[in-house]
Amino acid sequence: MSRPTIDHRGPEFAELTHRLLDGVRRVFRTRHDVFVYPASGSGAWEAAIVNTLSPGDTVLAFEQGFFAQGWVKVALGFGIDVRVEPWDARRGLTAEAVATVLAADEARRIRAVIVVHNETSTGVTTDVEAIGRAMRASGHPALLFVDAVSSLAVTDLQHDAWDIDVTVTGSQKGLMLPPGLSLVAAGPRAMDAQETATLPRSYWDWTRQREFNARGAFPYTPATNLLFGLEEALAMLEEEGLEAVFARHDRYSRAARAAVQAWGLEVFARDAAESSRAVTAVLTPDGHDADRLRALILERFDMSLGTGLGPYKGRLFRIGHLGDFNDLSLVGTLGGVEMGLRLAGVPYEPGGVDAAMEVLAS
Ligand code: PLP
Repeated sequence: MSRPTIDHRGPEFAELTHRLLDGVRRVFRTRHDVFVYPASGSGAWEAAIVNTLSPGDTVLAFEQGFFAQGWVKVALGFGIDVRVEPWDARRGLTAEAVATVLAADEARRIRAVIVVHNETSTGVTTDVEAIGRAMRASGHPALLFVDAVSSLAVTDLQHDAWDIDVTVTGSQKGLMLPPGLSLVAAGPRAMDAQETATLPRSYWDWTRQREFNARGAFPYTPATNLLFGLEEALAMLEEEGLEAVFARHDRYSRAARAAVQAWGLEVFARDAAESSRAVTAVLTPDGHDADRLRALILERFDMSLGTGLGPYKGRLFRIGHLGDFNDLSLVGTLGGVEMGLRLAGVPYEPGGVDAAMEVLAS
């Protein structure tokens, strides 16, 4: 990434673009359109909305957590009528819940359903495959929008096979890059929706982007050095193999949960099967501020844990274990947490790191 920046209108860059878009397609598991923007993940949220919807359209979302709410806010900003259904954020969203609302929508007003695959704020993963299947079985024409910001290249996600219409992600999670790229996969139904969607769009316009991409270019100056990084990230993922990448994250998630259990603390996700492969969210006991614990661990060990977001501020901390992460990174991270619990006077049982090592060694 620190190589000199090349001419983004030259032949070398055009070849890079074609290679990258093919690689990105393989990670999203799609044969259809993919778009890469110089933006954070939130830019991809906006791209999904402005390319497929019109003012006054209705979109369905659930109270999955902070990032589901984030996508909702973007939609509201564009005059979309968002219907947010209550949901227990400690559980993955179910296909039944989505199907029930769609079945009641006899007038077919709902144009899209927003689903966060891995809610980074809660460490809860949703079965998107089941939702895609249920939506198609229902015969309801709503598009399926999936936020895969912290799930792509971490846990299995198949844009085409799962009937997703728009999948969005950012560069800074499973793709192991610095922040600054947002990536979108758009299936044929989403591309068709673009024909009739009337929200104003320019920078995010898929048609314009597709035309430029076809000749290996972008309609603006791309983030060339991040694209160099993306090429290497894709090579690393292909070298390891996506299935092996998913299995590695699954082990880290199981090992982290074993540590939390041994400490006598509680993982936020109610069901282990829905506990995130990317991040483990841990509740601190009543009266023990999770942010105080985080501050102490940062100060003593220079290790930054994720904060609780929204209603969970001070109530939970999050252990990230995604991306370019190995067994020792996890053991070191958990060691920092265990020492921090002791120093902060949080009641816990020792032995969490041992329990995690047991999982990693087995
Ligand atoms: N969606 C999820 C699940 C996220 O975790 C994040 C950021 O962490 C976002 C969306 C927003 O992405 P960004 O902060 O890159 O705009």
